[in-house]
Amino acid sequence: MNRSSSTSLQPRFRLRSIVLLLALALIFSACGTNTDDNATTDVEETATEETAEGTAEESTVEEPADSADDEPAAEEPDDSEAPENGETAEPAATGEAVDVGLFFDGALTGDATTEDCTLNGGAETTCYRLTVGGDPVSYETGPFCPTNITDGPEAGGIWFDGNGVYDLDGEFITNLAELYGDDNWQLYNDDGTVNVTETAEEFDLAARPDVDPSVQNHCVEGQLEWLENGQPVTSTVLIPVEPVLADGATTSRGNLGVTLDGVVIAQSAPVDAILGAYTIAAFDDCGGHYNPVDGYHLHGAVGCSELGEVTDGETPMFAYAADGFAIHSPLDDPASADLDECNGHETEEFGYHYHANNAAENQVVECFTGQVVDTGRGR
Ligand SMILES: [Zn+2]
Ligand SMILES: [Zn+2]
Repeated sequence: MNRSSSTSLQPRFRLRSIVLLLALALIFSACGTNTDDNATTDVEETATEETAEGTAEESTVEEPADSADDEPAAEEPDDSEAPENGETAEPAATGEAVDVGLFFDGALTGDATTEDCTLNGGAETTCYRLTVGGDPVSYETGPFCPTNITDGPEAGGIWFDGNGVYDLDGEFITNLAELYGDDNWQLYNDDGTVNVTETAEEFDLAARPDVDPSVQNHCVEGQLEWLENGQPVTSTVLIPVEPVLADGATTSRGNLGVTLDGVVIAQSAPVDAILGAYTIAAFDDCGGHYNPVDGYHLHGAVGCSELGEVTDGETPMFAYAADGFAIHSPLDDPASADLDECNGHETEEFGYHYHANNAAENQVVECFTGQVVDTGRGR
């Protein structure tokens, strides 16, 4: 992402004046011309450093807000409300467009390129080919599992199962049998320690649909170091440059979208299989976790990776859905917002966008209003 240097113009102007005054003062007070030159050079160097620092800081803070302000420019509300036209030969451009400039620095690996693509409703259009880094650039992943039944909520992440969001603390671990009505739950030992996957091998045995019996009754967590080569897993996605409306709500078997800080949004976590093996596939406080093949990915939106601040009644954007529409954080009161069946609505400020479900529902986005490139592969 290119950072604008225009914000530094004014400070530089001021600094120039200071340099000039200092130089004049030195000329009047110094004895020899050589000393003047050296002193002036020193002052100028210092001024340059300060300007550079100021620019970096300002950009970091201001860029998300600026970008958010820019976004609604591409809005054309009335055209996007015409999904009844079933013809896919002529894509119904919505007027919204993906802005790759909104991705955080470092979230994308390589350049965003464009190419022809065919969407699942038959539309032929242009897509961005984006590769996300697979490691969130705006936060550190983890913690996931608590290690002792005396641990408080800060020691672990969260768990959600379609019914609720739970802090992964010691109390949660000791209450599992009661919560799920099954006395076979026993994730902790007599000394209070919690069974947590401790090696890459244990993690591989636990983080798969057919959980190995040896790791039943474990809190399952992975680490970046346990992935192949110890590196984040990058993911390449094709997203329509301009969303194309589908005939009706549509779904995809692939990933649901990508966050602005470089992580894929996965399909619902397979909660039944996880709980059926008496495991908890712990999420961190941002709603993501590792698996051995796909690396770190998101299952629940809890307000991480957000872009700037927004006005009352709205929540910040944090991702693009696979159909190219923006995804904003969950609303405090979704009922008041008149959302459609895919949790989308159109506002003057943001155009059409989705609101993620509450993390409790274990499904960030339920369906798409626009057509997607269906890769036929989810996780
Ligand atoms: Zn997962
Ligand atoms: Zn909204």
